[in-house]
Amino acid sequence: MTPAPAERLSRNDDARDLAVSFEFFPPKTEEAEKALWGSIARLLPLQPRFVSVTYGAGGSTRERTHQTVTRLVRETNVPPAAHLTCVAASRVEVDEVARDYWDAGVRHIVALRGDPTAGIGTTYTPHPEGYAYACDLVGGLKKIGDFEISVACYPETHPESRSLEADIDILKAKIDAGADRAITQFFFDNDVFERYIERVRRAGIELPIVPGIAPVHSFSAVSNFAKKAGASVPNWLAHRFDGLENDPATRQLVAAAVAAEQVLDLVDRGVDQFHFYTMNRADLVYAICHLLGLRPGVPEAA
Ligand code: FAD
Repeated sequence: MTPAPAERLSRNDDARDLAVSFEFFPPKTEEAEKALWGSIARLLPLQPRFVSVTYGAGGSTRERTHQTVTRLVRETNVPPAAHLTCVAASRVEVDEVARDYWDAGVRHIVALRGDPTAGIGTTYTPHPEGYAYACDLVGGLKKIGDFEISVACYPETHPESRSLEADIDILKAKIDAGADRAITQFFFDNDVFERYIERVRRAGIELPIVPGIAPVHSFSAVSNFAKKAGASVPNWLAHRFDGLENDPATRQLVAAAVAAEQVLDLVDRGVDQFHFYTMNRADLVYAICHLLGLRPGVPEAA
């Protein structure tokens, strides 16, 4: 029987067994940098297992990702994870970035192939002297240091994969190469995620598959990105945001309700780890974590 919402909330009151992680992107401007560090300051007391910082398409944020990650090492106690991709770089260059991270005390890499330099949906051509795919990168990283490694996976199948089976084979190759966990592309239909987990487990993969949760700050931005990334946007979701284009306050409430509904349902299905795509904003993610029962570990400044 599906528990009533109030029962669900009280069941997760202390959230002792829940782990969360937060994903940020490196800021481009001083103003964006201030906003990012404000969000980090708000979210870190929730004691995430790690926070990750993305790597722009084609390595375009190499310096900024590095600066953000190393500042996390210097100024916080949270373990940072640096995203790193194979795109448009030789193995020597990628290895150098990884070694710099290791030397700076970074012990966790989110290892990705990356999207083609010309954008999602265009043809990917591996760099002639580079790591061709994420599984090759994972193997290369393990030779540099005993990094903890997260990789990407796709409940609705990566857009370039022939089939779900082929996609799961690729996930297996990344795990065989040394990955410790997989983080999913965002999704909105929990049944899709549950079916995916069943298939992954049937294929003999036992490692944690952490759902990537994307709070809907902007419905149009999320649906545009979802189209390119091969994630579906259910009609019911479109309907919930329908007519709110010029009503940011209601949009925010609806976004919080939608995300809360999704994560609480996943908890009911046995999920105990979540990765939040924060878009560098703390508000929605903080509220959702609060609903999950997480509370700040140290008193916050007034
Ligand atoms: P892979 O696991 O390498 O697979 C991608 C595709 O390549 C497969 O579908 C398959 O068609 C093909 N393939 C893989 N291995 C082989 C093989 N051995 N032989 C033949 N074909 C193969 N992108 C960024 O640019 N920067 C980021 O910071 C970033 N962070 C992300 C974080 C998460 C949690 C997720 C889910 C995605 C992220 N992405 C990021 C997007 C990601 O780079 C793209 O989805 C990319 O298209 C695939 O990356 P991957 O690591 O899953 O690739």
